[in-house]
Amino acid sequence: EAKSAGRDMARFFSPETDHRVLARQTMEVQLRQALAAGEFSLHFQPRLQARSRKVQGVEALLRWQNPLLGEVPPDNFIQLAEETGLINRIGAWVLREACTTWMDLEARGICKGLTLSVNLSVAQLAHPELVEQLAQVLHETGMPAEQLELELTESHLMDNPDTAQARVSALKELGVQIAIDDFGTGYSSLAYLKRFELDKLKVDQSFVLGMMEDSADAAIVHAVIGLGHTLGLAVVAEGVENLATAQALTALGCDELQGYCFSRPLPLDELVSYLQTNGQHGERRRMRA
Ligand code: C2E
Ligand code: MG
Ligand code: MG
Ligand code: MG
Repeated sequence: EAKSAGRDMARFFSPETDHRVLARQTMEVQLRQALAAGEFSLHFQPRLQARSRKVQGVEALLRWQNPLLGEVPPDNFIQLAEETGLINRIGAWVLREACTTWMDLEARGICKGLTLSVNLSVAQLAHPELVEQLAQVLHETGMPAEQLELELTESHLMDNPDTAQARVSALKELGVQIAIDDFGTGYSSLAYLKRFELDKLKVDQSFVLGMMEDSADAAIVHAVIGLGHTLGLAVVAEGVENLATAQALTALGCDELQGYCFSRPLPLDELVSYLQTNGQHGERRRMRA
């Protein structure tokens, strides 16, 4: 009996489980001190107007470089940051860093008329001090609210739509723009979609990546563009990896395009040269290259 229990235990604490638990613990320990250790940075991915292919804005994307774990992608640590509550401090850092960087570019005349997008996690949206925190960042950095766009993930918004709606309303009062990210992967009630004060839908990249081969994906992209426009919202496609997809999206009336076709997320110095070299014409350099 003891033997079989031992076997069960061994199965339960299989080397694999063990490894995963340990990896998570290690990551949590590292994540707790990452801010203080200065291990976070931001990369920036341009977003282009579909028709003119002019740069319209830039999305700030968090990067974590840890001495022990190497470069950890956000998909591997954002959820942990949410579960541990660390996301509020990390998110506050992202907002301040993004706006500070933006105003520095602004002063150098590099991002005139462009919009800065920042991702907000659901835990941040739920945090009672978010609105005040944001107001303070806008005030202290001088970032014009109308040039800041906050991206909220669809699936998260619908977890608690009434609270989310109230919070979105308060954010809108500050003058920022609101986009729904990863649209099509959650389960938005159309009634809520109408009630939220939104500016933009971002079609999830999973549909965009497959739309040239998979007619169902293409149909979903088409439908989201139609839905967005019916509601008076701009529609962005993310995950645009090639020119054929970019052209198809433009033909479907998609307003903005973001993806490797135009640029990967760039460290700040490369963003600066991208914006300087391309001027406002994101595609031209790509075609020459
Ligand atoms: P997201 O906001 O939907 O960002 C788009 C993701 O797609 C980014 O991944 C970007 O690098 C990637 N991407 C861009 N163009 C292409 C393309 O053409 N093809 C493909 N295959 N991928 C493309 P990344 O940077 O790894 O970020 C993943 C997710 O992590 C983000 O998805 C966002 O939900 C979250 N995230 C990133 N930064 C932050 C942050 O500062 N705060 C919060 N709360 N979440 C963040
Ligand atoms: Mg995003
Ligand atoms: Mg997205
Ligand atoms: Mg995503």
